[in-house]
Amino acid sequence: MPLWAKILAGLILGALTGVLLGEQASVLKPIGDIFISAIKMLIVPLVFSTLVVGITAMRDPKKMGRIGGKTIALYLITTAFAIAIGLLAAWLFQPGTGLDLSFDAPVEAKEAPSLVDILVNLVPQNPIDALSSGNILQIIVFAIALGVSLTLIGEKGEPVVRLFESFAEAMYKLTELVMALAPFGVFGLMAFVAGSYGLDVLLPLIKVIGVVYLACVVHVLVVYSGLLRLLGGLNPVRYLRGSLDALVVAYSSASSSGTLPVSIRCAQKNMGVSEGVAGFVLPVGATINMDGTALYQGVVAVFVAQLTGTELSMTDYGMIILTGTLASIGTAGVPGAGLIMLSIVMSQIGLPLEALAVVAGIDRILDMARTSVNVAGDLMVTTLIGKSENELDLETYNQKATA
Ligand code: ASP
Repeated sequence: MPLWAKILAGLILGALTGVLLGEQASVLKPIGDIFISAIKMLIVPLVFSTLVVGITAMRDPKKMGRIGGKTIALYLITTAFAIAIGLLAAWLFQPGTGLDLSFDAPVEAKEAPSLVDILVNLVPQNPIDALSSGNILQIIVFAIALGVSLTLIGEKGEPVVRLFESFAEAMYKLTELVMALAPFGVFGLMAFVAGSYGLDVLLPLIKVIGVVYLACVVHVLVVYSGLLRLLGGLNPVRYLRGSLDALVVAYSSASSSGTLPVSIRCAQKNMGVSEGVAGFVLPVGATINMDGTALYQGVVAVFVAQLTGTELSMTDYGMIILTGTLASIGTAGVPGAGLIMLSIVMSQIGLPLEALAVVAGIDRILDMARTSVNVAGDLMVTTLIGKSENELDLETYNQKATA
């Protein structure tokens, strides 16, 4: 049985076990927690070593600049598409119209991150500090700088390059070993989630849940598949098969940062993306590219407007797209982060923040879907950039995407 099938089986069995056991299923959660900790253990050393090796293998600092530009552009464009799809779906299906839900718990608004702050914080004052606190963007900056310097000193850098190559290999092996636990981890996490949400919580909001899930599927199948086909001439089915491990781990863990080692493995092993591209584009994506979160913000903003009988103007919709994109960039890839950032969008267009309490009760269910889309988006952009830079092994992409 291939790994993806075992992980999928873990997901289904976990959900069934949760439904059967109800709240008692939470005794299975520690299995999931151990798995998540084991993957998180890999993030910093894996990202750092993969990126250093990838940069030195590319031997062309200018290429990195170009890849960086394309990465940011594609991430922004797909995010704007995602919110637009969310808005359209909520407008079409009207999940909030006619619902009578009371809410009064006060919620505090967050502030959108300022662009200057983001830029200033990119450069680590102390790389060891960045590594120990797991600041991915700072780690990326330092790894690129080190990789470029190693390339510039040529032969003198060889011993360090070989050290990193060997270290990165060990990290790939370790990822493979940890992934052997994935079916059990996913089982434990799903049992916990399915056991903690009864139908009494889900049913009143089933329409908004359905709209978020539908919009997520449409975004992946239409926008991602379309872009892969149109811009890369690639078969999207291969991409979906190759991404499956990462998507299921993202779905059950609701953390795109935590899924990063799995995404890196999928991109390299199943899709044939080079170390340099996978090691750069994916960690950047796990930090700033949150299409699922953006889409969810679009749906929920319109949902709350319908719930409270607020008319939204064209300017409001424009504002949602703009602030939603920024808010999604500032969202951390951890469970529940998107709900907090939603307050930025809601306060921008004057919607009552108390209404957040309504969706908070079911947030995990929405979080699982949006996190999978966040990860799917990172992998799609990584594949496209790999293709456009000749850093995608087409033979692997076309044949082995099922491993
Ligand atoms: N949980 C999401 C993620 O990790 C972020 C969010 O809450 O929207 O990607």
